[in-house]
Amino acid sequence: MGELGLLGATIKGYDCAGVSNVASGLITREVERVDSGYRSAMSVQSSLVMGGIDEFGTKEQKDKYLPGLAKGKLIGCFGLTEPNHGSDPGSMESTAKPHPSKKGYLSISGSKTWITNSPIADVMLVWAKLQETGKIRGFLVDRAECPPGTIETPPLKNKNGLRASITGMIQLDECPVPEANMFPEVEGLKGPFSCLNSARFGIAWGTMGALEDCIARARKYALERRQFKNNPIAKYQLVQKKLSDAVTDASYGILAATQVGRLKEEGKAAPEMISMIKRQNCDRALINARTYVCLQPFLRYNWFMLCRLQEIFGGNAASDEYHIGRHVANLFVTQTYEVSPTDDSALGTSMLIVCRARATYIA
Ligand SMILES: Cc1cc2nc3c(=O)[nH]c(=O)nc-3n(C[C@H](O)[C@H](O)[C@H](O)COP(=O)(O)OP(=O)(O)OC[C@H]3O[C@@H](n4cnc5c(N)ncnc54)[C@H](O)[C@@H]3O)c2cc1C
Repeated sequence: MGELGLLGATIKGYDCAGVSNVASGLITREVERVDSGYRSAMSVQSSLVMGGIDEFGTKEQKDKYLPGLAKGKLIGCFGLTEPNHGSDPGSMESTAKPHPSKKGYLSISGSKTWITNSPIADVMLVWAKLQETGKIRGFLVDRAECPPGTIETPPLKNKNGLRASITGMIQLDECPVPEANMFPEVEGLKGPFSCLNSARFGIAWGTMGALEDCIARARKYALERRQFKNNPIAKYQLVQKKLSDAVTDASYGILAATQVGRLKEEGKAAPEMISMIKRQNCDRALINARTYVCLQPFLRYNWFMLCRLQEIFGGNAASDEYHIGRHVANLFVTQTYEVSPTDDSALGTSMLIVCRARATYIA
């Protein structure tokens, strides 16, 4: 990815490609078509770590880390989620306080979990509360500079989704980090949420790539699989409907992401727009890919099965060889992670924020 210029592709300078937001979206779409795990590893490196350093870092921090991250010679990770604080990162317990014996250093303690790339990361963008102010700040924790016993990054094994990406914890125990490694100005949740915004823009594109792969595989299977009078199952309208629903949603999702990408290029994309396309595209990719059960109060039966692309594969859907199950498991994770107060499909109050924002744009 580094050799191809895919990492931090929108960043200008520092050996990065400097492409447009739409071009970066197209890269993400193609990578996630292969597997959401590859896209996750790429997004964390590009949007969360390199994007964060580019937006909030000092010149020294940029010079030190961005070229290596751009080439993939350094691996980065982004530590926001904690074992007790996922959707609510503002309550994080990780703290940074003056180091008791090393002048010019802070001592960071805390635990982060579900961190993409952490077991192999060279540089960790860790968010922790500065004890002095109680405000969240961003710190670049450089593994090579941490004394033994002050940092552990154990992997989380046996995941059932995003198996192609490496996920782990970051455990910091009075880890000495130079004060110069703190982002100089950004405070509070603005820092991590700004990085997440860019990553969520990529997820909106990426999930459409995964859905497109599901469509292509389901179409191929439906043309080859023959049932009843030797007909390809693609001949039956119920199968065609599943494919046409999915193609329609993928087309709408890509058009919406393209428009937000163009607005982002002009500096006119609001965070709520990105929240909307991330939420909608993740939902539609997952719903179209999998077979799921839905509550339907208006029909005689309370529960019914909405059959989508996964069902086209019949029993073979349960086999890794046909890949649809892998995409479905991955798409569940894309829907769950990188949530923000304006982004969670479960949060009604958040949707009120989105609705209010939409009314403002329309007005
Ligand atoms: C494979 C993978 C990779 C990840 N990579 C990273 C990474 O690189 N860096 C990082 O920092 N994090 C990462 N995460 C963590 C991810 O961002 C969190 O899992 C996510 O924010 C949700 O937090 P949680 O798991 O603690 O769930 P919780 O916050 O405990 O939520 C559990 C459920 O409760 C619901 N809920 C929570 N609050 C409310 C509320 N107020 N009202 C209604 N419902 C609510 C949620 O919607 C969810 O359905 C990753 C996760 C996974 C699975």
